[in-house]
Amino acid sequence: MGFSLLLLLGIGLHWSLKNRGPAAAASSLTATPLAASSRQSLSKSEKPHREGTSGPRTLRGKYCENAHGTTCSTQWPSRDPTGRVLADAAGEVLALRQLRDLIRIHPTWSTAQIEERLAEKLYTPARKKLIQNAFDWVIKHLSEEISSRPATLLSDGEKRQLMERLARIQLEMPPPASVYADAPDLLTKNTVYYERTSSGELRLRVGGAYLINATSWYNLIFTFGHEISHSIDPCEARQAGIVPTIYQNLTQCFVSMGWVDSRHAACEKGEQVSEVFADWVATELAAKALEESGRSYSASEKTQSAINFARDLCAQTSSPDYLKSFTHQLPQVRIGSIIGQSPSVRKVLGCARPVVRGYCNWNGDKERTP
Ligand SMILES: [Zn+2]
Repeated sequence: MGFSLLLLLGIGLHWSLKNRGPAAAASSLTATPLAASSRQSLSKSEKPHREGTSGPRTLRGKYCENAHGTTCSTQWPSRDPTGRVLADAAGEVLALRQLRDLIRIHPTWSTAQIEERLAEKLYTPARKKLIQNAFDWVIKHLSEEISSRPATLLSDGEKRQLMERLARIQLEMPPPASVYADAPDLLTKNTVYYERTSSGELRLRVGGAYLINATSWYNLIFTFGHEISHSIDPCEARQAGIVPTIYQNLTQCFVSMGWVDSRHAACEKGEQVSEVFADWVATELAAKALEESGRSYSASEKTQSAINFARDLCAQTSSPDYLKSFTHQLPQVRIGSIIGQSPSVRKVLGCARPVVRGYCNWNGDKERTP
C-alpha cells in the first residue's frame, strides 16, 4: 500500500527521513516546501561560531563550531564505539540483493514463501533485540521526562494522557512477514515510521534495510526518539484533545529560534511544529544516551557518536525524493541548529561554549548564554 493511499484512508503517518532509497522516489506524495524567506533566515543562523579552548582542529572542535558541516563530511560508513551508520541506499541494495538471491535459488516458491524467508534473513533475533532495546529505552526516558515537568506547565491529567499514548505504541516487526501484509515493500526499505491507524492504533514500523544500515546505538535512539515523539507531538496531541501549556510555550520558542516559520506554527496543513518537536526531543534523548553510556569514551569517540545521531539525514537536499520530506526542516537546521546547538549535546561533548545563541528547554523557556 502506497503512502498516498494511506493518506487517502485518513491514517496519521510520519515517515522518518530515512526513507530516501531509490525505490522510495517513486512515491506520488506532494510536498509543502518551506517558504523562501524562511529558508534564508534559517540558513543565516547557521554561521559557524568560533570555538576556543576545545581546539578547532580536533574533531570535537570542528563539531562544536560547525555540527552540520562536520557531520555531513564524515566518510561512510560512519562508525562510533557502538556501531555504524551506512549511506541510505546501501542497506536497500543489500536487502534487495538478498531478495534477488532468494528468487533465483527458489524459483518455484510463492511470493509469500519468498517474503517469509526474506523477513527471517533480515529480522534476525539479534537485530530485533537491539531495536526492541532502543524502543524500550526511548519510551522509558521520554515517560520520565514528561512525568518530571512542573504541574503549572503539564497537569497530572495531561501527563497521564501523554504517557498513556506512549504506552500504547506497538513496535511491529516481522517475522512473520504477514505483520507488514499491508506494506510488503517495507521489508527492503530504509524506513522507520510512526502511524496512527484509522482504527486508532498507534504503531511503529521498521524497514528491513534500516536494520542493515544502522547498528549505532545513538542513531537508533535518535531515530526512535524522533518517531516515538510523533505520538505526542503538539499536533498529534491536539488531535487527541490534549493541549498543554508547555506545548504552547515550546511552539513559541521554536518560532523565536527560527526553527518554525510563524506562518506554519498552527496545527494545519504545512505546519512545521511536529517535525521540529520530534527532532528536538530526539536530540535531548540521544544526548542523554551518550551521557549515560559514553562516560569512558574519548572526546573523539563522543563526537563520532554525536555525528551518528543524524549522519543519515545529510542528503535531504540532494535526495531524489527530497520533496517527500514535506514539513521536515533543512539538514542545516536539523543537524546544525537543533542538534549542534543543543546545550545537552554540547555539554556531553565538552564544547567550550555550552550555549551558542539560546535554546529551547523542556519548560518551553529559552536558555541563553550566561
Ligand atoms: Zn518526523
